[in-house]
Amino acid sequence: MLPERKPRVIIIGAGFGGLWTARRLARSPADVTLLDRNNYHTFSPLLYQVASAELEAEDIAYPVRSIFHGQRVRFLMNEVKEIDLNARLVTTQENTYSYDYLVLAAGGANHYFGIPGAAEYTYQIKSLEHAIALRNHILYRFERAMYEKDPAIQQRMLTFAIVGGGPTGVEFTGALIELIHGPLKHDFPSLNLHQVQVIVLEASDHLLPGMPAELQGYALKRLRHMGVDVRLETPVTKITPREVTLKDGNIIPTETAVWTAGVGGDALAQSTGLPLARSGQITPLPTLQVEGHPEVYVLGDVSRIMQDNQPLPLLATVAIQQGKAVAHNLLRQMNGQEPVPFRYHDPGTLATIGRGAAVCRLWGYSFTGFPAWVLWLGVHIVNLIGFRNRLLVLVNWAWNYFFFERAIRLILPRPVRRPLLAPKSAEDKAREEEQRRKEPEGS
Ligand SMILES: Cc1cc2nc3c(=O)[nH]c(=O)nc-3n(C[C@H](O)[C@H](O)[C@H](O)COP(=O)(O)OP(=O)(O)OC[C@H]3O[C@@H](n4cnc5c(N)ncnc54)[C@H](O)[C@@H]3O)c2cc1C
Repeated sequence: MLPERKPRVIIIGAGFGGLWTARRLARSPADVTLLDRNNYHTFSPLLYQVASAELEAEDIAYPVRSIFHGQRVRFLMNEVKEIDLNARLVTTQENTYSYDYLVLAAGGANHYFGIPGAAEYTYQIKSLEHAIALRNHILYRFERAMYEKDPAIQQRMLTFAIVGGGPTGVEFTGALIELIHGPLKHDFPSLNLHQVQVIVLEASDHLLPGMPAELQGYALKRLRHMGVDVRLETPVTKITPREVTLKDGNIIPTETAVWTAGVGGDALAQSTGLPLARSGQITPLPTLQVEGHPEVYVLGDVSRIMQDNQPLPLLATVAIQQGKAVAHNLLRQMNGQEPVPFRYHDPGTLATIGRGAAVCRLWGYSFTGFPAWVLWLGVHIVNLIGFRNRLLVLVNWAWNYFFFERAIRLILPRPVRRPLLAPKSAEDKAREEEQRRKEPEGS
């Protein structure tokens, strides 16, 4: 008798949700394949520090193959293009794979609420490529502003608009203003940095939605104290490469609009043909399975799940707990048991606002300032993947803290306009010439 085939599990996405599912399944009898368009896992809570020249991209990413050394998880670097739920097929750029169970953990894309120009002209902080592009752009604005004679254009170059006052917007703004009034002040002594404007544009009447009012108030006071122009109840209506238009009719001339305002599902979620929420996310059942497809699980930012009449926040902590729950349910299913509903246990929330200041909500208590910041440092160091990364990040932070210095201020890579082709050898040129002569005229 032939041995029974192992159940094939495909996990799409090696972010927080997919990685934790795969880790939990690594010792299971299943045949697990993990697919990601990148060959690394990104620790996205620190992406804003790459964008603000505080950390290198390598410090917050880790190769997926290294994570699964010696374990029974097959990793394939492949971009998934389409999912056919009825045929149970996943199509990538190179191949088509069949599955018995599918875990969709592909994260979310930015949600732009239909604002004209937002998708085209804003910078994002959603991936390492985005963070590096934003860092280069900011540093380049200062280089260009040095030579600019027209004061209006120079002002536009030195104005930075951050759309969204959630945790990413607040953390990035704090790090940006410190970059400008610390290292860049010394790098560009001839620029008048009082001219620099950092503006946060938030549609609601508070920063840090979901946090207690005293923490929201602390974040607002702290950012304003640092010189940030925080504008609450200020929705954005249009964005062009040179301007941000506000609902009240005001126009902010700027070459840098950073989008941190919303997350939604992306084209992959659409390709499943499943009904999507307005944000473009998929709404799974409480067990994280998809209705009508008990073999398919959806989790993390690509999903929208209600708990106690509130949508769960889009956080790494949610995706990690869901990843573990999905692995648990898959194992139950393979053993002929019913999957169980998922419930999120909130471990607390943290957000930093520059060096030495943060807000924290833990076990029902709120606290701010230096103690919250130290806790923030500890939590992020512990959760980073890889000892080397932890060490590098710690050294960088210590350097920054004690010397007010940021080591990473290279504009790199510069855009390459054309592929670098090897120069043709004399032999190649002669062969081409010979070929041309042989070809009949007019062909
Ligand atoms: C700047 C920033 C700061 C944040 N700060 C915090 C914080 O402080 N605390 C917190 O808890 N959360 C934070 N978050 C949110 C947190 O990072 C997300 O909630 C979490 O990453 C979601 O996990 P996920 O597994 O759903 O998606 P992700 O971690 O985004 O992973 C998705 C993976 O899928 C891959 N992928 C996507 N599409 C495809 C495709 N078509 N084919 C193959 N692979 C694909 C991607 O490459 C990626 O590796 C932050 C997010 C950002 C962007």
